[in-house]
Amino acid sequence: MAIYLCHEQPDLYEHDATIVASRPGAVAVSRSAFHPGGGGQVSDVGTIEHAGGEAAVVRIEPEGDVWWHVFDDESLEVDGEVTIRIDAEHRLRVASLHTMSHVLNAFVFEEFEGSLVTGAQINGDGTGRMDFDLTAIDNDRLRALEGPVNDVIGRGLAVEAVYVDAEEAANTPGLVRSMSVAPPPTDDGLLRLIDIDGLDRQACGGTHLANTAESRPFRIGKIENKGKHNRRIRFRFAD
Ligand SMILES: [Zn+2]
Repeated sequence: MAIYLCHEQPDLYEHDATIVASRPGAVAVSRSAFHPGGGGQVSDVGTIEHAGGEAAVVRIEPEGDVWWHVFDDESLEVDGEVTIRIDAEHRLRVASLHTMSHVLNAFVFEEFEGSLVTGAQINGDGTGRMDFDLTAIDNDRLRALEGPVNDVIGRGLAVEAVYVDAEEAANTPGLVRSMSVAPPPTDDGLLRLIDIDGLDRQACGGTHLANTAESRPFRIGKIENKGKHNRRIRFRFAD
């Protein structure tokens, strides 16, 4: 994984680019601040302004090193110089929920003896879920984590991305906590960690807030047993 432009410049929501590959309904561009999604997190959405108008980008489809920016119009063909615009509200909504999923993950890991994440999904509509490798515990104990998660929003903890040696990280217990969603190391052997000040450090390639105070209140929804070792916690923002 190369370091994404959106990781280097998290506040970049508009920039120029050149189309480098084109097919009906999708293009690849010379540079893109879109987040491609991954690890259960949906990609950014936005628009591409081209000579003939403005096209809505509904998702990114990575194919090797090529990121296809997929249009809502499946037959649209676009070429030349363009302006990329990221939907900032969508980015914030996904980044907020994703950041709070780190916080929830930290509390589950701490309270339930190193329970690992087996799956995650962060949607564009402000809902999401995480699956944990948990067996014989009462769902009310999981639901009770809603309070501590919201306390973290109230405390306003700084959230920072740091890069560490991937091999060293692999030998640090608890750092790569997810069995399915940890990002591969960068080309130069570095692993991206998300550090929530004083609370949690976790390998992740997604989008995050800069401070937990930016999140809306967090609600835990339905909790389901999905097989013997799998507990699914659904969550969303408060209305
Ligand atoms: Zn993350």
